[in-house]
Amino acid sequence: MHSDRQKDKSLKSLPAKHVDTGMGFERLVSALQNKISNYATDVFTPLFDRIRDVTGARQYTDKYGKDDVDGIDTAYRVVADHVRLLSFAIADGAAPNNMGRGYVVRRVLRRGVRYARKYFQAEIGSFFSKILPALVEQMGEQFPELKKKEEDIREILDEEEVAFAVTLDRGEKQFEKYAALAIKGGQTKLSGADVWRLYDTFGFPEDLTKLMAEERGLTIDEAEVSVAREKAREASKAVKEAVQTFPKLNVHQIAELENSIKIPRPDSEAKYSKGDTKGKVQLIFTGSEFRKTSKELPPKTPLGLLLDKTNFYAESGGQVADSGRILIDGVAEFKVLDVQEFGGYIVHNGYLEYGEFTEGDEVICEYDELRRQPIRNNHTGTHILNHALREVLGDEVNQKGSLVDQDKLRFDFSHKSQVSLPEIKKIEDLSNKYIQQNFKTYYKDVDLDLAREIEGVRAVFGETYPNPVRVVSIGVDVDELLSNPKNPEWRNVSVEFCGGTHVDQTGIIKDLIIVEESGIAKGIRRIVAYTGDGAHQAQRNAKVFSEKLDHIDAIQFGPEKAAEIKAASVELDALTVSVLTKEELRTKFAKIQKEIVEEQKKRQKAESKTALDTVQGHFKQEENKDSKFFVGHLPISANSKAIADVMNYYKTKDKERTVYVFAGNKDEAVFHGVYVGTVSQSFSWFPVKLVFLT
Ligand SMILES: [Zn+2]
Repeated sequence: MHSDRQKDKSLKSLPAKHVDTGMGFERLVSALQNKISNYATDVFTPLFDRIRDVTGARQYTDKYGKDDVDGIDTAYRVVADHVRLLSFAIADGAAPNNMGRGYVVRRVLRRGVRYARKYFQAEIGSFFSKILPALVEQMGEQFPELKKKEEDIREILDEEEVAFAVTLDRGEKQFEKYAALAIKGGQTKLSGADVWRLYDTFGFPEDLTKLMAEERGLTIDEAEVSVAREKAREASKAVKEAVQTFPKLNVHQIAELENSIKIPRPDSEAKYSKGDTKGKVQLIFTGSEFRKTSKELPPKTPLGLLLDKTNFYAESGGQVADSGRILIDGVAEFKVLDVQEFGGYIVHNGYLEYGEFTEGDEVICEYDELRRQPIRNNHTGTHILNHALREVLGDEVNQKGSLVDQDKLRFDFSHKSQVSLPEIKKIEDLSNKYIQQNFKTYYKDVDLDLAREIEGVRAVFGETYPNPVRVVSIGVDVDELLSNPKNPEWRNVSVEFCGGTHVDQTGIIKDLIIVEESGIAKGIRRIVAYTGDGAHQAQRNAKVFSEKLDHIDAIQFGPEKAAEIKAASVELDALTVSVLTKEELRTKFAKIQKEIVEEQKKRQKAESKTALDTVQGHFKQEENKDSKFFVGHLPISANSKAIADVMNYYKTKDKERTVYVFAGNKDEAVFHGVYVGTVSQSFSWFPVKLVFLT
């Protein structure tokens, strides 16, 4: 390996070059242990043993292809390979998502999960994390990051497995339908639209579907899948652009639902638990009228869907609405972009991706769990922050506004002055202490008057709460609070009236960092904070920037260093990191900048001196002492300030003489300056008219 391909396709020579012989660790071990395959070595034995313990499968026999009759050996290898890739990638900072390396992690996990279930009949949800300890035991010493991040890896693996488990069953059923149809129709391949649908609806990565298709003797056509994907993307983009706001239900429409159509208000308790729910279609709202069916409506019309039961969270209490979809597998799918509640009726706003919905249809409600999860972190984080604010700033702190979405939490509160950095540190520390204790969260609907009795309960002044009101308490059971509501201890507990969705245990939040503190009106401050992965990402950004400053600091003084520090200044202003870390970075930045400015000044002074010394030196020489002019190149850089200093000297201190000087060189830049002295006759032969240029 010789070069590193740059983004602009050019090649950059590597500092250390080597030959890739393909003799990796595993192959080396197989040669040393005299085995034909990598998998028969003791690199894999501990993992295979663990897989056998967890699944109860037969022993690994190192059979391949047709010799591996039941496919179990292949499954052993797939699972062992996958758990290695997943664990190292996650330890390295990759998290499963739909882009780039994150999507590689997701695909590998989903493929591995299916192997585990198909060949080992393993329960999906915490399968890979059960294999993980064997890997950490085996490699944790050589790769300490694996040991350090074991808990994080376990959580991410489980979270991702649980998310996929939701659709795995249904997706496999749908796949069987598609495959059966294709085979019945004499096809040898699964259509691109089917492959895309399996991805879009059930999260089946293309390579997983390909694998499953091959088991049925079918192929897939990647070009066809791309076409289907593009078509779907364009359609959803067009709808999203067309629909900025969805129609609201007005009072007359609410009355119509209640009094003439007479449909009951939906049951939305399921929003407080995880997983999908089933519901029935009640009505379709077009914005002006209620319909019993979506038939006869133009395609991609923005619609509101009303169900008898839902698990979607409608925007309220500062928490944003869920997104997701409502579907009948393989028959119809409705994309939910927004959810609003009007007088107790919940309207799922979105558009039909395909198929039709009619009153009474049984549907599956699937909110986007991967989006809900950071929202939960941020909501519970808000309660903890609210509690910490009162602890640090005092009792007059009251909530004035709140926004909770998947990226951040924003909290406005009454407070007279700016929150100082030491106070921010205290608030952050207290919040994180709360989080790290891994408290359980408790909820209960409580009679409003009774709930108000709880010592230290947080409620928004002037807000009308329903009766009964939902009480959310972190760390102490609501019943325990109510058994002695006036217990002064309760002031140390976060207790709020809240209808939002929360984490089960505070440990899931991992971290809370304050990234902004500002004033938004007289006596009202705003704090923006990140939690969980968002907080970790911000901290990683801070680390990268800090390393960049170290790099700039190490560069030799010169134009490159000055240019880099200037660029870093812009970057620092735009950097979203913890307020406290930003302050540290600013200090570090200021120190480097100061050193550069001082060095610049020092060099400036030295060059000005050299410039003047050169000209004066010339006149001091015996043969020049009566000379009235000097024309010459100065031994300094293209330094306009030094030239100006020379000019100023002759203008004020030695007015008779004329000087014309240059500095710099043709590669860099050239500056020149002239002063025409008062005794100019002596060189009236000077042929050009000179102007003062810098
Ligand atoms: Zn809340």
